[in-house]
Amino acid sequence: MKEKITEDDRIIIERQIKRKPRQLRRVTSRCDCGCPQVVETEPFLSDGTPFPTLYWLTCPAKVKAVARLEDSGWATRLIDMLSRDTVLKKFLIQAQQEYGEARKRGGRDTVHPVYSKGIGGVRDLEAIKCLHAHYAHYLVSGSNPIGKLVAENLGALACDTRCDGK
Ligand SMILES: [Zn+2]
Repeated sequence: MKEKITEDDRIIIERQIKRKPRQLRRVTSRCDCGCPQVVETEPFLSDGTPFPTLYWLTCPAKVKAVARLEDSGWATRLIDMLSRDTVLKKFLIQAQQEYGEARKRGGRDTVHPVYSKGIGGVRDLEAIKCLHAHYAHYLVSGSNPIGKLVAENLGALACDTRCDGK
């Protein structure tokens, strides 16, 4: 659900990411307890710095869970899968293109190189960099194959008190 950001959301997001959120467009996904879990950001920060992370995973519990996967070598395993599985690769490229299109919607100066960056800021659309970014995209769109594998591995993550960053 696309939603506007309330003042309460801003307070929660600031606690979740431990800094002031910048250039937020909207909350693109919420967890069961209602906290923002993915926010959408503008392709440029207010000082003009390009910011390729369109969907930002903010829920601390989920950020931690994905980091544990990354630490256990999951990205390497997925890159290996991609080299053998052409269907997975096809869906990844599709997801990358959808991500780019979503970034362009409502964006300005859309010929800027930031608009051609893939998920996690990659230039090569067959590459995977940050599992958090793929998982965030999956939570928003339901159509990111890497994020889906991450979601399946994490299973149902119950909301806990850390959702709101307290
Ligand atoms: Zn929650």
